[in-house]
Amino acid sequence: MSTSTVYETAFLAAPFGAFLCRADGVFARVNPAYEQLTGYRAQDLIGQRKFIALHDPAELARRIGPLAGASAIERFRGEWAYVKRNGTRVPVSLALAPLPGARDARYIGIAVDTTRHAQAEAQLWYVSHHDRATHLPNRELFLERLDLSLARCRRADMALTVLVVEIDDLHKTRDALGPDGADLVLEYAGERLRRLVQTECGESVVGSIGGDQFAIALPGLGDDASRLAQQLIDAFARTDRAQPTRGATMSVGAARFPADGEDAATLVRRAGVAVSEARRAGRGQLCRFARAQETRATRQLELEQALRRAIDAREFFLHYQPRVSLKTGHITQSEALLRWRHPAYGLVSPAEFIPVAEQAGLIDAIGAWVMDTACREIGQLQRLARTPTKVAVNVSPQQFANPRLIEQIERALEKAAIAPEQLEIEITESLLLTDTERTVRTLHALRALGIEVAVDDFGTGYSSLAWLASLPLNRLKIDRSFIAKMGTDARSDALVGAIVSMGHALDLSVTAEGIETAAQAQRVRELGCDEAQGFWFSRPVSLQTLRNLLEPKPGLVCQA
Ligand code: C2E
Ligand code: MG
Ligand code: MG
Repeated sequence: MSTSTVYETAFLAAPFGAFLCRADGVFARVNPAYEQLTGYRAQDLIGQRKFIALHDPAELARRIGPLAGASAIERFRGEWAYVKRNGTRVPVSLALAPLPGARDARYIGIAVDTTRHAQAEAQLWYVSHHDRATHLPNRELFLERLDLSLARCRRADMALTVLVVEIDDLHKTRDALGPDGADLVLEYAGERLRRLVQTECGESVVGSIGGDQFAIALPGLGDDASRLAQQLIDAFARTDRAQPTRGATMSVGAARFPADGEDAATLVRRAGVAVSEARRAGRGQLCRFARAQETRATRQLELEQALRRAIDAREFFLHYQPRVSLKTGHITQSEALLRWRHPAYGLVSPAEFIPVAEQAGLIDAIGAWVMDTACREIGQLQRLARTPTKVAVNVSPQQFANPRLIEQIERALEKAAIAPEQLEIEITESLLLTDTERTVRTLHALRALGIEVAVDDFGTGYSSLAWLASLPLNRLKIDRSFIAKMGTDARSDALVGAIVSMGHALDLSVTAEGIETAAQAQRVRELGCDEAQGFWFSRPVSLQTLRNLLEPKPGLVCQA
């Protein structure tokens, strides 16, 4: 078989378009696949300069000038677009090469339809630039679009505001409904935001920037963006309870161009700092970025990073603060209080680092360490002192939401070989007001094990009497702010008295926290408190010092 027959067969049978053309661009031959690709029949093309008809005119003008007069071209390879006979566009990969020695043609061309490829590429681009749950632009695409908006605003000397929006407490929805349920909430919220914003500001860009946050760019809006943000917050809170978000609230942080930042990344970061501030200030509100927030946010970030290493670096330890019976003056129990000594920052107060650990999702691991250590140390103390010793451990709301909490506590008790009756859990009053179903279940599980529960910082929340009466609780610890005001503010005395009466009516023991003076100790005893805790009796102390305090000796430090 001659070589030319082989080439001829290949030319006709090729699954891709192939053509021969003269130096002036006139087609000499086309194969069947080329006919199919372009929608023209061979007779429509051969002898014709159909290049012009075949190519997208704009693209032709931009790129093919030389090709139209083909002689200037020696070789070409690249992505192209044909306009088919029926007017539709088809992306092709085109290669054009000189054909040496051929009589009637100067070039051979190959054109491969890349529609599928282009579709797959477009799909890939879509997936990598949009959020899976909300289908909104993701952080990367949002920043790109914000960059374009900023460039336009800069040219037009216009303001722009970036809002970062966060649905409050979405983690609870995730706990309750699972990840798919949370995605549904996000999808609904994203769509709602997009519609609300678009009616107010047609040029707006909305994106899902990760971590359950949305970002909105509002070109042309400066201070008036606050009004829009407030409208969003109000509209969101009014959402029908039948909708997936069930009237959830949202916090909003705002950063303005150019005052708060010149580039997209800075503006989004600063609006993010402001939204954290809005959350801290009580959720469901708007907060505008201010420089001082950034210093605080930097400190938080530093603490968070340091906290991640603190357990392994053995930087945590516990102190114990005795609780004293106001009837006998004896120590009845000790509260384990977490201490963190960082090599550079020194001792950091739990009032500062516990909220950071909670926000960063570190409290579960830290709380488990506290539980294990407190049980173990109290077990050791009991064996050394040969007296039954009781310990109270603070548990934060996030730990309480962890379905493995009970199991964790059981394991800690077992390892330390102490009885459940020796352990008390301190929870905050605010916990009783949120996530109630799960809270009640966990409280009953603790009661079933024989573990007591105290409500810490009592009086700062708004628990109703009927609600408290229905819960399996053992103790109320009156918040130290009431104790501090006793003596100077008659209402505080009355309040302490009322809490004691209420507690006793519900069969709860009542402890006064933060007793700093003999007068306060005397007063809370008169008001009927059962126990007290505070610097007057003892500061939080090391395990060794607690052991000394527990030694039964005359003239105990506890001057009740
Ligand atoms: P809290 O549970 O109400 O603990 C009592 C706090 O009051 C302790 O502060 C204690 O040192 C302080 N205190 C005790 N007596 C007095 C007094 O007479 N006057 C004054 N001014 N203060 C007194 P601390 O150790 O700084 O702990 C602060 C808070 O951090 C605790 O409040 C508790 O909410 C939290 N915390 C501490 N350890 C843990 C822990 O292991 N887990 C969790 N989740 N939270 C903890
Ligand atoms: Mg406590
Ligand atoms: Mg307290």
